Amino acid sequence: MTSFRLTEQEMNDLAARIPTPFMVASLDKVEENYRFMRRHMPRAGIYYAMKANPTTGILKRLASLGSCFDVASAGEMKQLHELGVPGSRMIYANPVKDQRGLRMAAACGVSRMTFDDESEIAKMAEALPGADVLVRVSVRNNKALVDLNTKFGAPLEEALPLLQQAKEAGLNPIGICFHVGSQSLSTAAYEEALLVCRGLFDEAKRQGMNLTDLDIGGGFPVPSADGLGIDLAAMMESINKQIDRLFPDTDVWTEPGRYMCGTAVNLVASVIGTKFRGEKPWYILDESIYGAFSGIIYDHWTYPLHCFGKGKKQPSYFGGPSCDGIDVLYSDFEAPRLKIGDKVLVTDIGAYSTVSATRFNGFEIAPTVIWEEQKESRASEYEEENTEAV
Ligand SMILES: *Cc1c(COP(=O)(O)O)cnc(C)c1O
Repeated sequence: MTSFRLTEQEMNDLAARIPTPFMVASLDKVEENYRFMRRHMPRAGIYYAMKANPTTGILKRLASLGSCFDVASAGEMKQLHELGVPGSRMIYANPVKDQRGLRMAAACGVSRMTFDDESEIAKMAEALPGADVLVRVSVRNNKALVDLNTKFGAPLEEALPLLQQAKEAGLNPIGICFHVGSQSLSTAAYEEALLVCRGLFDEAKRQGMNLTDLDIGGGFPVPSADGLGIDLAAMMESINKQIDRLFPDTDVWTEPGRYMCGTAVNLVASVIGTKFRGEKPWYILDESIYGAFSGIIYDHWTYPLHCFGKGKKQPSYFGGPSCDGIDVLYSDFEAPRLKIGDKVLVTDIGAYSTVSATRFNGFEIAPTVIWEEQKESRASEYEEENTEAV
C-alpha cells in the first residue's frame, strides 16, 4: 500500500493559493485504509482512535463508511456527537475517566467503557449504571515504537476479579481489551495476547461469567515508516486467522489510530532562512517541532522529507522557526541546495502530528486542507477559465 503523496506540481499549485505551512489530507486514502482493514480482517469491527487525527473531514468520511470510534475525553465525544455520531458507535476507552468525560458519556448515550483498576469501578457505576465494561489487561510486546503496557493494563491475574467486582457494582462485564503498543512491528504480540485472552475467556466461563466481546486495540503500523516494508495484508490476515480460530463466537473489534490516518496526510512547508555552520547547510522551515513536527518528540517519529532542487546533494540540517535550540527537525539529511522560498514536502505525517501541536512562540497551528476538495475547486477553476476563453 502506497502512502498519499502530492507531486511537485500539485504541491506548488496548492502553495500558490494557500500560505505555507499547511497540511493536506486525502480522505480517499483514509477510506482506502479503512476498506483495506475491512477486507483483511473481516471479522473485526473498526473503532477509529480519533486521538491520532480528529480532523472533521476524516471523522465524517469514516462515519459515512460505518466506522465506530474510540474516544477518551468529553471533547472527543462532543465532537462526534455534533457530527451526528450516536453514542452507540463509541467506546470510552480511557481506563481512567474524569467526571467531565463521564457526564458527557451519559449525555451522548455512550454505554461501553474500559477500565484497568478497582478504583475506577465506583465512578463508572455511579455515572453510567448498568453500562457494558471491558477490563484492559497488560500484554507483552518489545516490538512497538510506543509502549502502552507500563502505564496501562491490569495484571492478568486481576482481570477476572475486576470483572466480578464490576458486576457486583451493577455494571455489565462483557469482555477484555488490550493494546500491544503503537506502531507494532510484531504480529506475534497480537497472537500471544489473543491466546492469553482465550485463557481468560475460558476461565470466566468456568466462573459463570459469559464474556462476549474482545477488543484487540490499535497498534497497526504505518507500513512505509523508516523504509520498512511491512506487509500489512499478511499481518492482518494472520491476526484474523487467529481470531477465527480462537474466538469464533466472539464480537471482536480493533481500535486503529495511526494506521488509519498516518499515510493520508502531507505537510507543505517553505524554506524561510538559510545559513552555513561548519561547512554544513542549515535550512529553517516555517513549521516547528512545536507544531506539526511535534510527533518527533511525543511520538518518537521521523517523517519522510522530500526536497525538489536539482543540485548535488549534501548532508544538511533542517530547523523550525521557533527560538529554541531543540527545534531541529532533520540532521545530516541528504538535500540539494535550497534557497529561501523553496517548498518541501513531508509525507506520512497524518497521525499524532498537528493534534499535539502548540502555538509556542506565537506561531499558528498549520491548517489542514482536504485534497479532494482542493482538486475539485481547482478543476472548476479550470472549467471557468476555459468557458471564459470560449
Ligand atoms: C491510542 C490508542 C489507540 C490507537 O493506537 P494506534 O497505535 O494509533 O493504533 C487505540 N486504543 C487505545 C485505547 C488507545 O489509547
